[in-house]
Amino acid sequence: MPGALALRRTPHSKTTMQDDDRGRADTAETPAPPPATGFFRRFLRLLTFVDLPIKQKFLLLAIGTLFWFGSMAVVTVFALTAIQYKYHLVSEQIMPHDQAAREVLSHLQSIDRDLQFIGPHDTGADLLAIQSMRDHVKSIRAVNARLSLRQNGTSGTFIENLVRSLATASPASLHYLQGIMAVADRIDQSLDSYIHAKRKLPRAMDTEAITTAVDDAKDQVAKGVALATQHAQGVAAEYGSINDQIYQIIRESVNAILAVLLIASTLLFFFVRWIIVAFQRPIAAIIRQIDSLSTGDINLAKKVAIKSQDEIGTLSQKFNSLVDNVYGMTIYKKVIEEDASLDEVYHRLGDVFDTELAIPGYTIYDVNAQKKEMRVAHPPLVGDARLHCDLEVLSDCSQCRAVHTGHTVSSFEFPGVCRRFVPQDGVGHICIPLTAGGNTGGVVQLRFAADASGAMLDPAAPQKLFNAETYINQSLSVIEAKRLMQTLRESAMVDPMTGLYNRRFLQEHTAQIISGVLRRKTQIGLLVCDIDYFKQVNDTHGHDAGDQLLRETAIVLKNAVRESDIVIRFGGEEFLVLLMDVQADDAQVVAEKIRQSIEKLKVTVGEKVLQKTISIGVAEFPGDTDGFWQAIKYADVALYRAKEGGRNQCVRFAPDMWQHGDF
Ligand code: GH3
Ligand code: MG
Ligand code: MG
Repeated sequence: MPGALALRRTPHSKTTMQDDDRGRADTAETPAPPPATGFFRRFLRLLTFVDLPIKQKFLLLAIGTLFWFGSMAVVTVFALTAIQYKYHLVSEQIMPHDQAAREVLSHLQSIDRDLQFIGPHDTGADLLAIQSMRDHVKSIRAVNARLSLRQNGTSGTFIENLVRSLATASPASLHYLQGIMAVADRIDQSLDSYIHAKRKLPRAMDTEAITTAVDDAKDQVAKGVALATQHAQGVAAEYGSINDQIYQIIRESVNAILAVLLIASTLLFFFVRWIIVAFQRPIAAIIRQIDSLSTGDINLAKKVAIKSQDEIGTLSQKFNSLVDNVYGMTIYKKVIEEDASLDEVYHRLGDVFDTELAIPGYTIYDVNAQKKEMRVAHPPLVGDARLHCDLEVLSDCSQCRAVHTGHTVSSFEFPGVCRRFVPQDGVGHICIPLTAGGNTGGVVQLRFAADASGAMLDPAAPQKLFNAETYINQSLSVIEAKRLMQTLRESAMVDPMTGLYNRRFLQEHTAQIISGVLRRKTQIGLLVCDIDYFKQVNDTHGHDAGDQLLRETAIVLKNAVRESDIVIRFGGEEFLVLLMDVQADDAQVVAEKIRQSIEKLKVTVGEKVLQKTISIGVAEFPGDTDGFWQAIKYADVALYRAKEGGRNQCVRFAPDMWQHGDF
């Protein structure tokens, strides 16, 4: 509420400098608006979800946590799958191939041994050896067939099939299988050639063919051994490489998981810390302000810094405006308590409506319950300003529904509720009675824009109305006190018997009267009037008759002058009439008029009728003298002359009447 500064001359409470000493940055003289400038800052705010609602913040935190957990799971699953693949490669391919190569080597070595027992010479064991070799060749084929079957099968797990399909494609493995099969075939052929050569008669035995067959078989065995050995070495090398790969996968996976863990925990740490800071600091600042508020030791100019646009930011903002309201209200009450008059309080309330609450239209009425009248207290009806109520309410306040009922009268609740409100398109009214101690001393009429159905147009109007009511409620006790003071002051300045002002009134208002007449450069006619032989009335007819005469004389005097003139009961039966803004000699004319009226006045006391005369001394201020009280003395001197001159006459003061020291 920036406008409230108009009222806030000095913060009434002590400054909480301790807060600054402690180096807290969460309260500031002015709340920092959320910084939104600069690409980096905006990006950072987006990244840290500063301006997102709390619910979304935590949702994103949960999603983020899940993402990092998911990342770890993906890395783990990937590593385990890769390891499983490698393991299957070993168990499904490397091991069987290694085993097969060993078996093939063993069979070839057995064949090599058996080959010692055959040749051109008759060992007697060659048939057995050949049978053994044929068995070994058969076994070699069986081993190969087992490998081929393993490579071509499709049953098994996904990984097994994958391993199989990849291994089948290996050209080295195919080359080996084909080579060994060729070796087996050639050994079989050599053995066939051997038997064929051997079966001929001893004379016809083809020694050369036998030797060639045996040599051939030996060559094939050597070739097979070389092939199997080479394959076994290749498989062993592959086993070693796969082992290395498994270790590498484990190493890399552990590293990846550690990296993910590090990133996730760092982000989590910063985010959680930021959330704690973003939540805890403003809340702690608000708690501190509330504590200070309850002890009254608060610097209300200090605000809770607004660092985000989420609920915490809104909370800080609302708290600041609440403190602002309390502060404004406290200062407001203090200020109006010190205001001199009731009208000043009305004026101040009007200022609040104008500057702080931006009420589009309002009128503050003051009610005179005794006279049953109302007057516009603020804003004054000047220029184009016009009353929004029938003029009747001014002369008869009971016509005002708010005064009459003592309740708030709102056209927004019931269109056309008050018939005294002059209907106007697009304007509705809420009239709040200023009721204290059972009396309605005034009415505040607030006017807001209304739509065709009579409802409030401005969405901010209800809040404005609420604030206005709060200010009015705060003002009620002060208005009541001021009214009481005013009544007391007025009663002390009024003569109870005649209802005229007394000498005290003149003393209190002298400065005001003088400054007005000097500003307007006009004259005041001063008439000092004294009833002739008044004492006789008391003596002859009694004191009550004297009082009656005084009362009726007062009425004559009042009626003989204008509304703006002032009639004062100056002493016992002495009156002072101030004729405001008169021309030269006007005062003399009015004095004569008064004298004649009194002469004609007949006062009935019981069965008797009294008729008295009056003597009047006339002077002018500042025409006769610069001193106001001096001018009154001059009029008194003139009165003395009138008495001396035989009474029942008006005498205009002349300088030669004044002899210093006479009075
Ligand atoms: P003069 O023509 O010289 O003015 O004669 P006077 O009798 O009017 O003058 P004086 O000052 O001697 O008498 C004033 C009297 O007015 C004296 C006093 O008792 C009387 N008086 C003053 N105040 C009141 C009042 O409130 N009521 C009544 N009944 N008499 C009052
Ligand atoms: Mg007298
Ligand atoms: Mg007198």
